[in-house]
Amino acid sequence: MEDWVSVGYLLSAALFIFGLKKLGHPRTAPFGNQLGAIGMLVAVITTVLQMQLTGDGVVDWTLIIGGLVLGSAIGYWLAVRVEMTGMPELVAMFNGFGGAASALVALSEIMRYLEDASNIPEGLKLTVTMVAAGLSALVGWMTLTGSMLAMYKLKGGISVFGKWIKTPTWGPSWLNPVKVLLMLAVVALIYLSIGDPTNTDYMWGIIGISCLLGIILVLPIGGADMPVVVSLLNSLSGIAAAFTGFIIGNSVLIIAGSLVGASGLILTFIMCKAMNRTLLDVLFKSFGGSGEKASLTRTKVGSDADEVAMMIDGAQKVIIVPGYGMAVSQCQHQVKEFADLITEKFGTEVKYAIHPVAGRMPGHMNVLLAEASVPYEQLIEMDEINSEFPDCDVAVVIGANDTTNPAARSGEGPLAGMPIIDADMARTVVIIKRSLSVGYAGVDNDLFYEDKTMMLFGDGKAMMSQLNTAIKEI
Ligand code: NDP
Repeated sequence: MEDWVSVGYLLSAALFIFGLKKLGHPRTAPFGNQLGAIGMLVAVITTVLQMQLTGDGVVDWTLIIGGLVLGSAIGYWLAVRVEMTGMPELVAMFNGFGGAASALVALSEIMRYLEDASNIPEGLKLTVTMVAAGLSALVGWMTLTGSMLAMYKLKGGISVFGKWIKTPTWGPSWLNPVKVLLMLAVVALIYLSIGDPTNTDYMWGIIGISCLLGIILVLPIGGADMPVVVSLLNSLSGIAAAFTGFIIGNSVLIIAGSLVGASGLILTFIMCKAMNRTLLDVLFKSFGGSGEKASLTRTKVGSDADEVAMMIDGAQKVIIVPGYGMAVSQCQHQVKEFADLITEKFGTEVKYAIHPVAGRMPGHMNVLLAEASVPYEQLIEMDEINSEFPDCDVAVVIGANDTTNPAARSGEGPLAGMPIIDADMARTVVIIKRSLSVGYAGVDNDLFYEDKTMMLFGDGKAMMSQLNTAIKEI
């Protein structure tokens, strides 16, 4: 029996690892996702069969099957219902639930000690279990409350009885020593729990402090730094699972948790690099500012699709800069049509400039453009494409704002130091968005007001369709 369980877990771990490898490229990512899902199914079946056959006995088949059906139904309903623009919030919510689920499993294991003292391990095993349980609670509950707050920060606010309340960004400098003190308090409670494993007050104390920590760690972070927080919380949910794996002695939980923890951490550092920040800066320096929207006093006369089409007619090189607005208006197919049209009709060279934090989730632009069958070779990362803007006749910015905002170069404000797409270096800039309003970080964008910038005001899809029609008529 033991052998079959090991084979089941080995198979699911292998499926996770191959799935993760396939996620490395947009073309193979859907297959990678399926491999991961099958791996999870194999792990669940192996665990349930092991419990049933080794004599521990599954508590109640109705509960297990009911849970599977209910969980699958909710997952299916969410997957079908959620808009592409709501994905980042959904991912944040899943991170939170993942962390909480791991922490709950760890808690239930500790509760067994109350039922029967013979369940309490001895010596080093007790120390390892209590440390792992304490850390699982710390990371798991912190991930839950932090992720819920991150979800509402991504949404921009929460509706209470029909009234829209904006998610606050608040982080006075005295909060940093408080965070450190709370962490130390958790360490002290874990130490005390080792000496008295049946006293659950310590565990409840750790849970309370961890919930508070999640909130005060995420509360000060706003503006453009949210991508770092979302990927860090993703990593933490995996780490909580790995700790729980140690407590219940489940190897596949340790492997899967470590994979999520490690890949989330790599993504966190990629995001930090994209924002030109260190992780400590993001967590303790509160770059996000107040998150207040800048009040706009300047105006700019908009252009129309015919004018822009004429300008593009004479261009040899066009770089498309997509941003969150492309995701909102779902105009990726019109963008692809635009690129194809000008390549065929005018012989224009077309490339896409991809900022690592454009949109609201890592890889957001790549996913949307892949859906529209844009060739991968045309998607060029920011570091590589920026040197091409001085030779570019027209930069067409579609729903991007913060990621093109020259204010980032000033060294002040929420965008300070963030590398941007150098669209302002192009000879002419066309910006498609509905108004002059600010982006996620709430910073006014000088690029809109430059003489060489043509603003095409309107919804991304409507404007791209008008532009394509105008180009066809030339
Ligand atoms: P921004 O959020 O800066 O700006 C998006 C712009 O899109 C808005 O100014 C808006 O202007 C416009 N827009 C919205 N709807 C439409 C529409 N229907 N048609 C046309 N335009 C529209 O986008 P960027 O992609 O440049 O920057 C991403 C920001 O989000 C960064 O600050 C990043 O740090 C942050 N972020 C990124 C995450 C990630 O993982 N990628 C996660 C969390 C935050 P208007 O209203 O005038 O139309």
